[in-house]
Amino acid sequence: MLTVENLSISFRTDEGRITPVQGVGFSVAEGRTLGIVGESGSGKSVSTKALMRLLPGNAEIDTKARMRYIAKSGEEIAIETLKAGSRTLRHLRGGEIGMIFQEPMASFSPVYTIGNQIMETIRLHRGLKGRAGRDLAVAMLTKVGISNPSTRVDQYPHELSGGMRQRAMIALALSAGPRLLIADEPTTALDVTIQAQVLDLMRGLQRDLGMGMIFITHDLGVIAHVADDVAVMYLGTIVETGTAREVLKSPAHPYTRGLIKAIPRADRLDARLEAVPGDIPSPSARPAGCPFHPRCAEVIPGLCDRATPPEVVLSEGRRVRCHLHDQTRAVA
Ligand code: SF4
Repeated sequence: MLTVENLSISFRTDEGRITPVQGVGFSVAEGRTLGIVGESGSGKSVSTKALMRLLPGNAEIDTKARMRYIAKSGEEIAIETLKAGSRTLRHLRGGEIGMIFQEPMASFSPVYTIGNQIMETIRLHRGLKGRAGRDLAVAMLTKVGISNPSTRVDQYPHELSGGMRQRAMIALALSAGPRLLIADEPTTALDVTIQAQVLDLMRGLQRDLGMGMIFITHDLGVIAHVADDVAVMYLGTIVETGTAREVLKSPAHPYTRGLIKAIPRADRLDARLEAVPGDIPSPSARPAGCPFHPRCAEVIPGLCDRATPPEVVLSEGRRVRCHLHDQTRAVA
């Protein structure tokens, strides 16, 4: 339902132009969840905001980028060509592609009730008003597991707990009936137990409704819980893709291996967690060659710091950007 190719995004800043996303490509199939994982600053949120055309005014999408979405009607929409404020873009946001953010307080208006805000979305995207709109809003709150939904519908966002607000945010995003849901770190601000409940809820809803989902997270443990496919991002490029099962079982990229070692394990609570050493550099100071080389434990001296690693296809849908997998290098 969604194919992204050659997506590069630059920002004009006082310090010059920076390019936090370089040549990213991925696809989402109907009824599947793509997990995009990486540290803060890897470009995952910027990439998905481009899909909703929600980038700030100083951002530029490269002209080679292609973002193709197949709408409910079967029509193919070239997202990169949509004009700001156009009818198609308004329909795309919410009606076709829903979005859930990390902090629901930033998405809900504090001055309207939860119900008013859900009913407004229902009116805009489904044309239902009055009693019918309110009934659907209550039904959506029920669907996401909110207790006393006919009371909660008249409450303001600040009257709900964090977990409850995130459930209400999911209800808001789903109330327009999107085919694709983008969830940007939706459980990061929640307690661990509530996190697990919300992840289970999202996974269940995605399966019941047959939606596609893009789930952005910095936590590979969360990917194991929700994703069918995974794209690992580092400094604006995708360094590894595959099914979540394959990538977690046999990670091909040293960065993915580092992220896996950093996941706490319930069966080894006394084990020391291994962090990936160092910090992700700024996109304005991108290292030459492989951008991960200053932090990589398997760096090949004289190569990784000079040559950009090619994308190597390991099997269908399984790709990695690392010199270690480049067979032509081994032969040479
Ligand atoms: Fe490490 Fe080199 Fe592979 Fe980059 S290309 S991840 S530096 S081994």
